[in-house]
Amino acid sequence: MPSEYISRRITFPRPFAFVIDDMGWIQGSSLGEKTPSGPYRNGIKRVFDWQDYKHVVEIARAAGVRVQGLFILSELDRQNILAGFPTTTFQRGQWDNSANINEQQLEMVNYVVGQSAHLEFGFHGIGHEHWPENGEQRRAEWYNLEDDHPWPEEVLREHITAARSILDQYGLSPSAGHSFPETFVPGAYSYYWNPDGEYSLGKLMRETGVKYANTNFTVIPELDPPAELNGGGFDHGLHVLGRLNYGNLWHELRSLPKVPISMQPTDVVETHWVNWLASDDFLQPEVSAQWVDYYRQVARLPERYAAKNTAQLHAQWLYKRYTVISLVSEGVIAIDNTRMPREAYDNDIAGNLVLRFALQQGEHLSSATVNGMSVAVFLEQDGYGYLYLPILERQRYELRYEIGAHYPEFGVVADGTYNVLAVKNNDQQAVLSIKMYGRQDVILYCDRPSRVSSDRKDLLVKQTAYDEPTRKLTVTLEAADYQGVPGEISIVWD
Ligand SMILES: [Zn+2]
Repeated sequence: MPSEYISRRITFPRPFAFVIDDMGWIQGSSLGEKTPSGPYRNGIKRVFDWQDYKHVVEIARAAGVRVQGLFILSELDRQNILAGFPTTTFQRGQWDNSANINEQQLEMVNYVVGQSAHLEFGFHGIGHEHWPENGEQRRAEWYNLEDDHPWPEEVLREHITAARSILDQYGLSPSAGHSFPETFVPGAYSYYWNPDGEYSLGKLMRETGVKYANTNFTVIPELDPPAELNGGGFDHGLHVLGRLNYGNLWHELRSLPKVPISMQPTDVVETHWVNWLASDDFLQPEVSAQWVDYYRQVARLPERYAAKNTAQLHAQWLYKRYTVISLVSEGVIAIDNTRMPREAYDNDIAGNLVLRFALQQGEHLSSATVNGMSVAVFLEQDGYGYLYLPILERQRYELRYEIGAHYPEFGVVADGTYNVLAVKNNDQQAVLSIKMYGRQDVILYCDRPSRVSSDRKDLLVKQTAYDEPTRKLTVTLEAADYQGVPGEISIVWD
């Protein structure tokens, strides 16, 4: 049996996540072969609009995930501020984005921000490449891959300043309640890995508020990055995972990975925006159906599951790396989490641990406790029961579970793309520690509550509904920050 098996019916599955590079461009056509050269963009002659995001959002919604999108910001610049940041674009001081400044551009970004439950706005760069001098283009924006040399720290700090300024043009700034993107992927894998040095890309990004990154480590052997294909690690607090491309090229429309899922060594699977798109909108439904089906194929493999979001992906990757799980006896599982690195807690990367139970017809996960505390987050799908354990500390745990004919008396259903990181409940009240993305329904099975409230103004309880016959409570929550909001939801019975 593969190492993911704890018993014949229980697996400790590897996460699966698609990431989508090169969103944010408005003009798709490559300028890579022009003289003087410009960015490669999407390698397809096309002007993008909000519907090209809608296609991806609909796939993600159907798959039940919040997919990681990585955005290039230069063509979103509505005030031509990049003329003041010459290393960020191919036009340097003569940057002129007037052709792209219009209502459609606003409509596009507003749409994306409104869909943060299913599409993550991650950061990919400003112009993708680097223009150190007039007429000179280097791969790539965040590290000089051609000369194996880091760009000066003060220059890259300017790129961050430019990013903040463009995001601010759309009201996506801290003063308006929005965090800097939590996820970063460097263009062309230009990652300056230097965890033990004074300066690294991880240090720069972590200081900016970024928590998660992924890149192809094999292009920077001179920097001695993690050597395993599914490797990863902390670089000054930034958690960076390795990823690979599986044969679908960056400029190919309607193109899925060519390597079978079971043969993919990395948890993070590279794609590019146009891979998800048809050549025209009327052909899109068939392409979208293929992507949704791909997620279904992942769900059918007992040793894999689609992580709901980037935070869940990184948390499970860490548990897979550092945590030892074994069956003690039927109904009892030992979890040794003592080797989890402290950096996972210091940088808020620790999260839910996911286990998967194969269920027969009529069977349910009826109860689960970890060191005596109830584990109340469940999901049943396609003949599997998923258990979402709370954030585990650096200690040993005993998980006791029961499989039976009934559902648990109290339970949160993990069918959204938010994370429920801990649940404390008794007869009087339950408190959910949650990280919410966008506007979503949280479903619970419980008695009718007298009150539901949030501890934060930027995490709103929009409405609640209770269905007596099924004991189903629906709490609609909305996170004001497009990068998500952590908070506590109290449900009170009196
Ligand atoms: Zn890219």
